[in-house]
Amino acid sequence: MAEGGMARIDVVIRSHGQIPGKCPTCRRPCPGYDRMSARTWSQVPLWGIACYYHFGPMRVDCPEHGIVVEHMPWNEGKRQMTLGFMAFLAMWARRMSWMETARAFKVSWESVFRSVEWTVSWGLKHRVLTGVKALGIDEIHRGKTGFLTLIYQIDEGMRRLLWIGPKRTEATLKAGLDELGNTVVSGVEFVCSDMWKPYLNVIRERIGQALHVLDRFHIASHLSGAVDEVRRGEVSRLNAAGKGGGEKLKKMRWNLLKKRSRVRGKARQRLEAILSSKLATARACMLKESFEHFWTYRSVGHAGRFLDAWCRRAMRSRLKPIKRVARMLRRHEPLILNWFRAKGEVSSGAVEGLNNKIRVTTRRAYGFRTYRALEVALYHTLGKLPEPPPTHRFC
Ligand SMILES: [Zn+2]
Repeated sequence: MAEGGMARIDVVIRSHGQIPGKCPTCRRPCPGYDRMSARTWSQVPLWGIACYYHFGPMRVDCPEHGIVVEHMPWNEGKRQMTLGFMAFLAMWARRMSWMETARAFKVSWESVFRSVEWTVSWGLKHRVLTGVKALGIDEIHRGKTGFLTLIYQIDEGMRRLLWIGPKRTEATLKAGLDELGNTVVSGVEFVCSDMWKPYLNVIRERIGQALHVLDRFHIASHLSGAVDEVRRGEVSRLNAAGKGGGEKLKKMRWNLLKKRSRVRGKARQRLEAILSSKLATARACMLKESFEHFWTYRSVGHAGRFLDAWCRRAMRSRLKPIKRVARMLRRHEPLILNWFRAKGEVSSGAVEGLNNKIRVTTRRAYGFRTYRALEVALYHTLGKLPEPPPTHRFC
């Protein structure tokens, strides 16, 4: 049927006269009560042409559930899209942005969001949380709205996002652990986290049986942060003193944060020039770089002695941000050394890998104006959630 030039396919569905309607709750065939006026659902487009279902459902009289609207295999509640269409949109929304999905299938952004939300809710309800041995607890900073707390499963064979919550307080993490449930939490053997105090408190209190490891990724990012702070300070000092070099140092930001061996070509020459200079940034960088050696130890004792020696050097560096990191490392020495006690059971890359994927999703998500949309998108892309079974068999 063409209406105002726009092609559309209208599928009018009729009840089979001989087959009684079913109760949506118990699926028992029930006597009819009355027929309601027709409703419309959008269905997956066919050959790019918008497609609609029209059907006036019966109300049936179930001996157990009373007078209810009959079961329709493509419908849930008062939704205006078929379950098949929602599953279809959600599938594409994992491959493209929500905006692109909306444009490609000529639906609103809101429809894509609702479809993904429905898929995610189903997945969360039906996921299996057994065998969770290693947890990663992470936070990300999100725009102006502040922090989010994330709980990952970081077991070798299963890495996924388990929970997200706003802020990074003790209450946030407690809420997350409550939602995972006691059975899951009491089975955890390893926890990996940052040095953030509220997290440390809650982990001690709630997951005390597990070996708590401060993870390598977060320690490295504290060190990088300190180097960057030293560099920023030095850039403004150089500029204020009218000496050259400030601009050069400013441009080297990313190369200074990388591992030296990963910087190549001309940039490497410029980097070496900075590192062999007397700049404070050079000293900060060398200290950061020398810390890498820490992770190569096998014995807790040797690692501990290295850590002490490194912190002493750092405290003599006269670089405030570096000294701050050294103090933090000292304060948490036992938890940091747990890394060596975990003997490779906790992967150093797991939290970092998931953290990077989260960043990709939040960045791609220019449409996520609300926290709810972001939450749904993250579960959708990183939760490894089961999907609702298809309502339709095609052959
Ligand atoms: Zn019933």
